[in-house]
Amino acid sequence: MSTDGCQTDQPEQQDSSTRIQRLPMKQRWANYRREIKENRIKVVKLIAGGFVKHVYIPTRCQWLKMCRGEWGATEEETAAFIKDATTELFNIEVCGSHQGYAVIIRDSVRNPILAISRVAEDYVSPFYHELQGVSLALKLAMKYKIFSFSFYCISEDIAEYVTLSWASKRRCDCPPRDNPRNPGEKLDYCVRCLSYTIDEIDEGSNADKILSLINEIFSDALQFERHGYQWFDLWPATELCAKAVQHLANSGIDQDLRVDEIEEDEELAEILYKEVFSHGTEQEVMLQRNSGAECS
Ligand SMILES: [Zn+2]
Repeated sequence: MSTDGCQTDQPEQQDSSTRIQRLPMKQRWANYRREIKENRIKVVKLIAGGFVKHVYIPTRCQWLKMCRGEWGATEEETAAFIKDATTELFNIEVCGSHQGYAVIIRDSVRNPILAISRVAEDYVSPFYHELQGVSLALKLAMKYKIFSFSFYCISEDIAEYVTLSWASKRRCDCPPRDNPRNPGEKLDYCVRCLSYTIDEIDEGSNADKILSLINEIFSDALQFERHGYQWFDLWPATELCAKAVQHLANSGIDQDLRVDEIEEDEELAEILYKEVFSHGTEQEVMLQRNSGAECS
């Protein structure tokens, strides 16, 4: 694929305070549209009914350049750009594995903003590590003040357990209890009365750890709610649409990646690229070869 513009555009200024000054959105998008005309590829897409069509998409390099322009290459830029995006509905994806867990924060069209993976210090279970991912995701949302987002995890069991526990957290008659993280504060919700569901999914031996973590997640979510966080619903993502976060959770590395670092990890960049533009399935690659269209 074309790499026009890849090497020359990156190291412009080092001073983050000057880089945060950027063009208004209208001008930025006018520039992107102009650049895409020079940096695009034709791909084959399979559509409903088994039909095939050819579409133009930005090269991976051009697309990442747009992501960087919209969501920043530094901590300061990312924080500032998210703060500016007051109407954006973000997407947050979480995955746990035998090695650890991962979180990807994306914008409304699933462009990546931040991709993080952590190695589990002590192995417990993929269920528990995915919950650790949920907890980390919520803390990241709090840090960047992302109040409006769709929240996805890989495991249907996690989605169901968290959602059900959240909906039932004040339905029992258990008295308020002390907050172990903040002595003197009383917690008016309960995470124990649904703990039988942990046995049902064969996580009974990890119940104490799971309850402690779910307690922390709910305590964070309630605190965040007071600052404007809109809803707490966790949805299962289909595996087909969540390859990148699975790849990260299985990486066995502690890493915090923004667009520049994602671009350096060619495998991850390619998975994300295909997820965003929904192209490049095995069948499509084969059709692409046969049709002679330029291939990424
Ligand atoms: Zn209770």
